[in-house]
Amino acid sequence: MTSYHMTPDEFRRYGHEVVEWVASYMEHVEDYDIVPDVAPGDIRAMLPKAAPEQPEPFGTVLRDLDEIVMPGITHWQSPGWFSYFPANVSGPSILGELVSAGLGVQGMLWSTSPSATELEEVVVDWLVDLLGLPQGWKTAGPGGGVIQMSASDSTHTALVVARHRAARRAAVEDMVVYGSEQAHSSVEKGARVAGFGHVRLVAVDDEYAMDAEALREQIAADTTAGLTPVAVISAVGTTGTTAVDPVREVGEIAREHGLWHHVDAAYAGTAMICPEFRRHQDGLELVDSYTFNPHKWMFTNFDCSLFYVADRRPLLDVLSILPPYLRNEASDSGEVIDYRDWHVPLGRRFRALKLWFVLRWYGAEGIRHHVREHVRLARELEAKIAADPRLELVAPVPFALVCFRHGEGNEATDALAAAINASGDVALTPSKLGDTSFLRVSIGQTGTTTQHVDRLWGLIDDNALRS
Ligand SMILES: *Cc1c(COP(=O)(O)O)cnc(C)c1O
Repeated sequence: MTSYHMTPDEFRRYGHEVVEWVASYMEHVEDYDIVPDVAPGDIRAMLPKAAPEQPEPFGTVLRDLDEIVMPGITHWQSPGWFSYFPANVSGPSILGELVSAGLGVQGMLWSTSPSATELEEVVVDWLVDLLGLPQGWKTAGPGGGVIQMSASDSTHTALVVARHRAARRAAVEDMVVYGSEQAHSSVEKGARVAGFGHVRLVAVDDEYAMDAEALREQIAADTTAGLTPVAVISAVGTTGTTAVDPVREVGEIAREHGLWHHVDAAYAGTAMICPEFRRHQDGLELVDSYTFNPHKWMFTNFDCSLFYVADRRPLLDVLSILPPYLRNEASDSGEVIDYRDWHVPLGRRFRALKLWFVLRWYGAEGIRHHVREHVRLARELEAKIAADPRLELVAPVPFALVCFRHGEGNEATDALAAAINASGDVALTPSKLGDTSFLRVSIGQTGTTTQHVDRLWGLIDDNALRS
């Protein structure tokens, strides 16, 4: 009689095949066209309408993976990937995911898997030191860190705490959240989900960083109008151009007016592992919460977003709800952390494992090496663009994102983007600042080297001539 389950022996056999499959993908990822040539519905049309009634051999699943799924994959892991931001992965991270899946624990409470909680405490504390964050953000301090799914969740959580803290002072419809005109869409979305009545996108300076004076004026105008300023988000590395908001000045304004100050360093947080970038986050002692994504630039598979608070009490005040079935001795003792109280979901994956694997495999030294290399490649490209009379840089390059345009205007810029992306082995993101088209080149994939950036430059050079 069949049990239907995959036996450990079968798992071993197919597991080896799948690891082999992934290793081979890593070796050959460069051979694919980065963006698949499919129309909406193409992949769906190759799949059966109904789930199988009878069990199927695993070999046929792997065959369909190659024949049906792969043709519709966008190859984020290609070394020619310069689009959006990186979502770089690494061997140790993938293996950490595998072990986490194998253990299958729910780490909602300390008592539901003590190692899941305590390893997470340790890696988030390690990162406080590695990124030069305030010592009080460690688990032993008044603050602490937690791994969430995404920076959007972290920002949303920060806004919920800010709203709760202000609840005695104002009605939520009268509360105001501030970000810059270049703030990530998660600021507006988080504010909307949290129910805030108003979001103000404050003007930026000519380097696309928040204009602190404009923030001050907006707060004054809102206060005069009878509204209640409640939270402000500074970006260290905006999504558009990696602009850096003045964290210290915004922090001072936030203190003066009793605003919650959240820092969104989703992409650039990783760079802080190199001390030379930390001047960009000067003023962190004036920050209430902070988020960064190891799942962007730190060789760690999605999902892995860190969320730190300077003081965890207001966070726990909002998010702890204790139904009787979750009560246990360890929680009652107050000696343990129950991470379910640190975010919206109850159940949680053992995400610390992959980050722990990554930090131990690379060492801080290994991550620093690669971050510096990506930044060096970005600076080289920046210099070539700056020296080329056909092209114009549109923003400073504090990290590893280069933003530029064709000097002849939007049409030439859009045509240049289309020509580069048509190559298949290189992908970048066309974007806009106001009405101005520009190209974003984000250098940060695991396998990206000089050779790939040279290939990109060759394409820019050839196609800029023709446009
Ligand atoms: C990528 C990004 C986000 C969103 O990150 P998710 O983890 O996908 O939610 C937020 N803010 C900034 C500045 C980003 O670059």
